[in-house]
Amino acid sequence: MRRRTLLALAACAVVPKEAHGAPPSDEDAYELDEVSRSVPRHGELVCPKVDLVTHRGAAIRYDGAAVVHPAFRLRLVAFEALAAEVAVSHFGRKPTKLVQLGTFNCRRIGGYPELVSEHGLGNAIDVAGFDFAPLPPSADAAGTTSPKLDRRHLGAFAVRLDRHFKLDARRSPESAFLRDLARRVIARPDLFRVVLGPSYPGHHNHFHFDCAPYRLVDVFGSADA
Ligand SMILES: [Zn+2]
Repeated sequence: MRRRTLLALAACAVVPKEAHGAPPSDEDAYELDEVSRSVPRHGELVCPKVDLVTHRGAAIRYDGAAVVHPAFRLRLVAFEALAAEVAVSHFGRKPTKLVQLGTFNCRRIGGYPELVSEHGLGNAIDVAGFDFAPLPPSADAAGTTSPKLDRRHLGAFAVRLDRHFKLDARRSPESAFLRDLARRVIARPDLFRVVLGPSYPGHHNHFHFDCAPYRLVDVFGSADA
């Protein structure tokens, strides 16, 4: 508990003003909470030894296999189910592919050399977007697609944060989907505790999700609150 408090305090040094939320309570204990994130500021980085598994996606396939801690894998499975549900409500079908930019990667947090990144514990994923196949004729004919789709979204298409999220541009169906997904993820701290997106420096092209021992949300900037 004490170590977790210290970690939360250490994390406060790295969070921007927009961050909000208290450290997780004991009821939300997570398997990696007690692992120290502190590392020497200089020299070769040795990441904490943790179990890692390969995950290729359950509800949605990944374009590249994820290498993550088993506890984080469970969070990914739940996230895929949520992403599939949000996609169906916007586009009438779930994505065929989740495009990810990185999972396990033994490195320090940029600008904070005394802390190992959650990627270094297999406790994080960077999601760049989703690919959709053409709408199945059966779904179309049965009228089961609640959303009204333009022709462009009846065929195959891709949704990417760097092209579609745009903080202040005109809203597109792709942007609406990504924003809705982000809001739904933010509303589910049982999925991920840290949710970063385009309003956070260096995240214009991906969502970063992790289960660090603290809460940090920065996707829409001041609109997060
Ligand atoms: Zn990341």
